Amino acid sequence: MDTKILYVSKDLTGKDDIKNLTLASEIVRNGGLVAFPTETVYGLGANALDDDAVKRIFEVKGRPQDNPLISHLASADDIAKYAHTAENDYFAKLAPLFPAPLTVVLRKLPLISNVVTAGLPNAGFRVPENLVARKFIELAGVPIAAPSANISGRPSPTKAEHVIEDLFGKVDVIIDGGPCNVGVESTIVTLATDPPVLLRPGAVTLETLSSLLGQVQISRAILSEMNNDEIASAPGMKYKHYAPVNPVTLIMGSDDKVIPYINKRCETENLAILCYDEDAGSITECRNIFTIGKADDPLGQARSIFDALRATDECSFITGVLARCPESKDGVNLAVYNRLLKASGFNVIKL
Ligand code: AMP
Ligand code: MG
Repeated sequence: MDTKILYVSKDLTGKDDIKNLTLASEIVRNGGLVAFPTETVYGLGANALDDDAVKRIFEVKGRPQDNPLISHLASADDIAKYAHTAENDYFAKLAPLFPAPLTVVLRKLPLISNVVTAGLPNAGFRVPENLVARKFIELAGVPIAAPSANISGRPSPTKAEHVIEDLFGKVDVIIDGGPCNVGVESTIVTLATDPPVLLRPGAVTLETLSSLLGQVQISRAILSEMNNDEIASAPGMKYKHYAPVNPVTLIMGSDDKVIPYINKRCETENLAILCYDEDAGSITECRNIFTIGKADDPLGQARSIFDALRATDECSFITGVLARCPESKDGVNLAVYNRLLKASGFNVIKL
């Protein structure tokens, strides 16, 4: 298939931006697949009201059929067209946050089909902050069902190059809107239960949600492995996720333990290392070092984590990846830790 790559500037000031977005929005409305930038990661969008188009998302990504999709809307007011919002007090408390890197799960109305929700009675909705994403959805005039624009199981795409690597020739359009600001997928909270449950941590933190909603439970799947027969409330959580080609091991501990441990392992093994900016100078035994931001900057780490995981695929002859992971689970640290846990298949060495 011929894939068009269309460039659009982040602030929509480019001469051809609206022309390109109009073309992409016509293609998606008429059943095509369009990869588009959001503030979290790139999404692979289809018209959420067109079951055949939505089914193609699952085929192209190799996505398991029971893993539902999030519907993206241009305005929070539109959520009421597709879900029961009026009687949900929790929704009223979160609605002012939109646009944001946040997905709310609500009891759906019939317009959102079972193909989008993988048969679930509830559906996820998000209004992205990214201007390109919002303009694209607004011009399409329909809700856009979109998972991350990667091959299922691979690290999520935070640059157009990542989408090209995974999906060129398989989708109609890739909109290149530059690198994603947040870099990890949206926070998902279900408001269809009482109390609400955090299903996936992201840049909108548990602390923020709790301050607005009162008690918020945290899904067990965020920090621990699910059994095969367990029913996940966010089905995506039970699948292998974010994994580079080589096996990932997480290393948790203080500098004085982690750095010597990494150097020792690298004396005898050919490994790639993901570490904080401050660590790089002390890791003397390894040539494949990828820094993921400062130790005290989880937002910066979130922005680069998937790019760094993908970059390890380019290292020749390595047998594994050691990744330093946060000890704190506060704020955005929880999102970084969760993605690293899944990338490693819950393989953590605590020093
Ligand atoms: P992705 O955009 O590829 O990260 O996939 C979307 C994520 O949202 C998956 O982890 C889904 O399990 C989750 N999700 C989407 N819709 C729902 C829903 N109705 N209920 C629970 N989780 C959902
Ligand atoms: Mg995904």
